[in-house]
Amino acid sequence: MITHADLIKLKAIVGEQFASTGESVLNLHSHDESYHAHTLPDAVVWPHSTDEVSRIAHYAFERKIPVTGWGAGTSLEGNPIPVNHGIVVDFQEMQKVLAVRPEDFQVDVEAGVIYKELNKMLSRQGLFFPPDPGAAATIGGMIGNNASGIRTVKYGATKDHIARLVVVLPGGDVIRIGNRARKSSSGYDLIHLFAGAEGTLGLVTEATLRLVGLPAHFLALRVTFPEIRNATDTVFQVMSSGFSPAAMEFLDANVIALLNRDRNITMEEMPTLLLEFTGFSDEGLRAEMASIEEICRDNCSTSIDKGIGRTERDRLWEMRHLTFESIKRQNPGLLPLIVDIAVPLSRYSDMAAYIKREVRDLLAYVFGHAGDGNIHVIIMDTPSNSVRWATVEEINRRIVEKALEFEGTCTGEHGVGIGKRGFLQVEHGDSLELMKRIKKLIDPEGLLNPGKIFL
Ligand SMILES: Cc1cc2nc3c(=O)[nH]c(=O)nc-3n(C[C@H](O)[C@H](O)[C@H](O)COP(=O)(O)OP(=O)(O)OC[C@H]3O[C@@H](n4cnc5c(N)ncnc54)[C@H](O)[C@@H]3O)c2cc1C
Repeated sequence: MITHADLIKLKAIVGEQFASTGESVLNLHSHDESYHAHTLPDAVVWPHSTDEVSRIAHYAFERKIPVTGWGAGTSLEGNPIPVNHGIVVDFQEMQKVLAVRPEDFQVDVEAGVIYKELNKMLSRQGLFFPPDPGAAATIGGMIGNNASGIRTVKYGATKDHIARLVVVLPGGDVIRIGNRARKSSSGYDLIHLFAGAEGTLGLVTEATLRLVGLPAHFLALRVTFPEIRNATDTVFQVMSSGFSPAAMEFLDANVIALLNRDRNITMEEMPTLLLEFTGFSDEGLRAEMASIEEICRDNCSTSIDKGIGRTERDRLWEMRHLTFESIKRQNPGLLPLIVDIAVPLSRYSDMAAYIKREVRDLLAYVFGHAGDGNIHVIIMDTPSNSVRWATVEEINRRIVEKALEFEGTCTGEHGVGIGKRGFLQVEHGDSLELMKRIKKLIDPEGLLNPGKIFL
């Protein structure tokens, strides 16, 4: 519990209006987008600089107050929920783009920058930051969760696009890690330690991000199949034939039916693949299109809607981008449990078939970033009905355990947060102990985002 004196001290660091214990502020920072129980922090602060974050961390360390970083609160596993109360450090006031270096394909940003805004700005220079989690996430939150999305199949996840970080450690020390070279063999890879640490090791205040050139030519296809296995086998064959899709998404017939209802459109309600390719010329993409169509037909596709160019890509993909919102809108009063697993590509079809069997009696929507083996299931139900919710959680558990049996992971992109802590022992075995020792070394008092990742 923080005292009045603590609040005065925090206000002295960040400024009178940038520290609050107001009820609505605490409420806003008590939950993310998941079903996990809300917990109020004791105070929220909005620092403006690395120095202020460092002084907050120092003060909290002296007073043994928990500190949790906050980006936009769009996590799906309870990652930023301050389960031990304390101070939430919201990065909203740190939204500066510090430098753009097109010649190096790099940008320096503060942690609170929203990646969609960043990409809007970068597009004027023909560049973009590829990880695309869909929601209006911040760079700090994306680094925290090592977020990825529909472009990961081609470009990788957030951690693959970080060159340098400025991190405030528990106690307030500031470290700068990484360099601006395109490659390096220099020492331990601390960037990959902090990326995906969910703010449990340090607070990221600045980052140098790696960018790529914006593609100019697009090919998109929307393909339907009689059975899920036809669609998921196609994913494997497209990848193993040497193609490099910019995005490849799977949606089951339930998702398509729901999108039809929500958008008043009429897509065939069958297992569907959405594919996007980018290239140097429309001619090259046309040749690619013929080969992709052949693979789809070999897998018994029932319809292929396709097009070349940005407008066609937008037409064919538009309905994918707001899937989560459509599912919530069409199921008022229910809350989502979002399953997020990833498996080796060779097991994608088996995994999808297993999931469909498990969720057959539930209100469930199966889709995913198929090109990188990631599957989501959104199960809509009522957490307040403990009997029903126990069934939902049990099915989530069985699906995750099957993914681990297939040598996959309990979380492809949403992070461990609260919801996946129980699976880490099985997934990591002895190396979980090493992770705990690293946490203890960097944060001996357990003050940074406590209650996450580890049980
Ligand atoms: C509709 C919808 C679709 C989504 N789709 C995807 C998807 O396709 N792929 C995907 O990966 N995710 C997806 N997500 C989840 C979410 O958007 C991402 O995990 C995102 O990276 C969270 O960013 P945020 O800014 O909201 O961070 P928050 O939720 O605020 O925080 C995320 C974690 O990072 C920590 N943190 C925040 N800022 C910092 C910082 N500066 N330093 C250190 N730690 C920090 C927090 O403590 C927390 O542990 C989706 C969410 C929604 C609502």
